[in-house]
This record gives sequence, structure tokens and C-alpha cells, in this order.
Amino acid sequence: MTAAPDVVVVGAGLAGLAAARRLVDAGAEVVVLEARDRVGGRTLTLPAADGTPIDHGAQWIGPTQHRIAALAERVGVTTYPSYERGLHTEFREGRARRYDGPLPGDDDPASAVAMGQAIRELDAMAATVPPEAPWTAEQALAWDSQTVETWLQARVPAGQARTWLREAIRSTLAAEARDLSLLHTLFVIRSAGGIARLLATAGGAQERRFHHGAQAISIRLAESLGDRVVLGAPAQVVRHGDGRVVVEAAGRTVAAGRAILAVPPAIAGRIGYRPAMPGWRNQLTQRVPMGSVIKVHAIYEQPFWRTEGLSGFVVSDSGPVRIVYDNSPEDGSPGVLVGFIEGEQARIWARRDPADRRAGVLACLADYFGERAGRPRELLERSWADEEYSGGCYAGYFPPGVWTSFGQALREPVGRLHWAGTETATAWTAYMEGAVQSGQRAADEVLAAS
Ligand SMILES: Cc1cc2nc3c(=O)[nH]c(=O)nc-3n(C[C@H](O)[C@H](O)[C@H](O)COP(=O)(O)OP(=O)(O)OC[C@H]3O[C@@H](n4cnc5c(N)ncnc54)[C@H](O)[C@@H]3O)c2cc1C
Repeated sequence: MTAAPDVVVVGAGLAGLAAARRLVDAGAEVVVLEARDRVGGRTLTLPAADGTPIDHGAQWIGPTQHRIAALAERVGVTTYPSYERGLHTEFREGRARRYDGPLPGDDDPASAVAMGQAIRELDAMAATVPPEAPWTAEQALAWDSQTVETWLQARVPAGQARTWLREAIRSTLAAEARDLSLLHTLFVIRSAGGIARLLATAGGAQERRFHHGAQAISIRLAESLGDRVVLGAPAQVVRHGDGRVVVEAAGRTVAAGRAILAVPPAIAGRIGYRPAMPGWRNQLTQRVPMGSVIKVHAIYEQPFWRTEGLSGFVVSDSGPVRIVYDNSPEDGSPGVLVGFIEGEQARIWARRDPADRRAGVLACLADYFGERAGRPRELLERSWADEEYSGGCYAGYFPPGVWTSFGQALREPVGRLHWAGTETATAWTAYMEGAVQSGQRAADEVLAAS
């Protein structure tokens, strides 16, 4: 038995570490239990063969993400702008077309108008969703009774505009428009400050990257917390309700005054609670599945597409990889393309033989940038659904009916148990910013209760 701390934090992702940092700053005794043998959770930076840091999880930070920016600055992790000079690529009906400007499909005026109109409509609807309580929106029940796909079919003419809007949703939430509650999607849009913020590189969520990779923030935060952070300690049972909390984690037992569980809802639902969770919380955690994504990196001697006047950004209507960005380091050497296999494509391609998947990815890159792109010197991939302690990415999403029936259970403490994790954030949910906000909010809750 460890000497009793004030707070035990479960999970050393950004949420758990941000919570622990704030508590320790306030003078509290804290222990952080982390299941994996590393910190950072959904951030993971590993060196490529030549040592270039590759972000297999989260990587970008953008304007209005002040909390993650402040935390990175505090631990000395600096940023640089993402590369996006030159023409973007739209791969449609088997052909690559280069375009300028924020959205694909601008060669078809009717589709461009339809897309602009749909985005304005979604932004206006999102503006009416209170981020701290989406279920209280005036239209909450109507919007939570349909999927985004239902809405697209009703509001956007079939064709390019609908295809690209589906892709925009898929690339933001790693789920299909048919999986997602419209209310949830509006909540995500609201929490980020609008669709343009979500989709843009400069001026949006993809604006900047971290010099040492995003995981460096968690690694340095954990270093600052020292031996308060315990690795290889998966919480299995949480006992609570008799004036204290006792967490059992693979042979280790930690007793504390309160606990912060900084894990996604679906993962929190796999932990045993004594006494058991109230029904509404138990049912919530059965209903917030994780998105599906495989992130791939292709590494070349040089970013050859740049000399051809291309930004490296691709949006495609076919193949496993439908979104690509230039992911080269700041000095442009080596050349790196990052591709995302998302939603249904991730579900299909994760089950394929690795050699088939590799061939499928390379065929996409060759379609988008020419034959040379099909011959990288290194190809790396990471399927987040395979990760026991993530279960998928980018985040947990809400299918229809969940926000309105169970939303209140998301953040409401159960006795001495407090909930964190990006899914519980009101700003930039599903992003690193949301993780930090949630951790700091849970720490404040605990401090206020103590
Ligand atoms: C491929 C990918 C790309 C992304 N891109 C971006 C991006 O560019 N920008 C951005 O802002 N966000 C991005 N995200 C999302 C971002 O990574 C997450 O929003 C954020 O990292 C979540 O942090 P968290 O602390 O809430 O959860 P997590 O990072 O999931 O942390 C939870 C921690 O709890 C641990 N854990 C789980 N179960 C237990 C248990 N029983 N006991 C103890 N510990 C446990 C886990 O191992 C993990 O370390 C991306 C995610 C992925 C996977």
C-alpha cells in the first residue's frame, strides 16, 4: 500500500497529466496510474529509421487552443507552421485535379454553392448548441434523433457537395456521417468555433506542429511529476463510497481521498466499480464508441511534390487513404506524407493482410502524386483500434439518442469519482486542447470539493 495521496489520477494522457500538474501546483499529493508502459495516450511520437520524429497519434495545434499551447510552452515544446504552399489535390472519379482555395469542387459552381450553403447552415445550427449542455439546445431532441447522413440527404443535393461534406465529417471524427448524431456533430463544431476552424490548416486546427512531436509534452509533464506517475498500472477495480477511493491496478493498490478518471468513456466502462456505477453512467459508457483510424506515413528523400507546385494536401473520393497532408519536418528533409484511413475504410482495411494494405496505400499515393509517390523509402502505419487502452481514435463519438438520454452523466461526478478526458471537454472536444481543458476542470472540481 502506497502512502495515501489526496488524489489518484487514472490515465497519463494529456487530460490526466494536466489534472495532476494542476493539483500538484496547488499543493496536493497525487499518484497517476497509467496502464501502458508510456505516457501520452493518444499522442505517440516514434523515430523513423533516420531519427525523424513521427507523430502516430495527435500532431496539430491551432488558434484558440490556448491551454495546450500554454502547457507546451511551460515544458519547452516549440511549434512550427504546417507546410501548405502550392495547389491542393482533389481526386475525384479516378482523376487528380489541382485546386486553389479552401474547399475542393470549385470547378462545379452548383456544388460549390451547395457546399457553402450547407456549411453556413451547420455553423448556424451549431451556434445554438450550448457546449456545456448540448441536450438543452432548443432543437436537441430533433437533432439527436437523426444522423448527419440523414441531414445531408435531406438538405444537400446528391453529388460532389454531399461527397465532400461526408469526407469533411469523416476526417474530423474518424466515423461515418451515418454513425453520428447530428446533435453531437453540431456540438463538436460549436466546441471548435466553427467548421472553418476545424478544416483549415492556416487559421485552423491543422495550423502548427510540435518540433519534437506531440508526445513530448506528456513526456516532459510526466518528468516534472517524477515518481508520482506509475507506468504499467492498469486500473482494474475502483472501490469508492466509504469516504475514500481505493484503486486496484495490477497488484498495486492506491488509496486516496478522490479519483480523477482521465480515460475515454468506453474505456472507463471497462473498469470495475464497487459499488457499481449508477445505471445512467453505466449505460452512457456502453454508448460512446471510439472512432476508427489508421494513420500512415510515407517517407521520401525529398518532398518532391513541393517542386511540382503542390501543397501535399489531398482529398479523395476513393481508395483507403482519402486525406493526405505534407508532414515533412520544418526543414523539409526528409519528405513525409501523412495519410489517414478513416471510418468505414479503416474498418475494412484493418482486417486486410498488411501487404495488401501497403499496396492499397501506395496505389493511392501514386494516383495523387505520380508513380514516384508509390516508392517511399519507408512506410509506417498505426491502427488505433488495435490499442487496448484507446480502443480507437480520434475520440469517442455520440450516436443518435445518447446526448439527450445520457449526456448529463458525462461529467457529473459519482461521489468521489471525477471524470476527465477530451470527450468531457466543452472546448475543442476530441482534440488535445479538450483533453487539457477537461483535466484542469476535473482538478478544479477536486480542489473545490476538498
Ligand atoms: C491518429 C490520431 C490523430 C490525432 N490528431 C490530432 C491532432 O492533430 N490534434 C489534436 O488536437 N488531437 C488529435 N488527436 C486526438 C488527441 O490525441 C486526443 O484528443 C487526446 O490526446 C486525448 O487525450 P486524453 O488524455 O483525453 O486521452 P488519452 O490520450 O486516451 O489518455 C488516456 C490514458 O489513460 C490510459 N488508460 C486507459 N485505461 C486505463 C486504465 N484502466 N488504467 C490506467 N490507465 C488507463 C491510456 O493508456 C492513456 O494513456 C488525434 C488522435 C489520434 C489517435
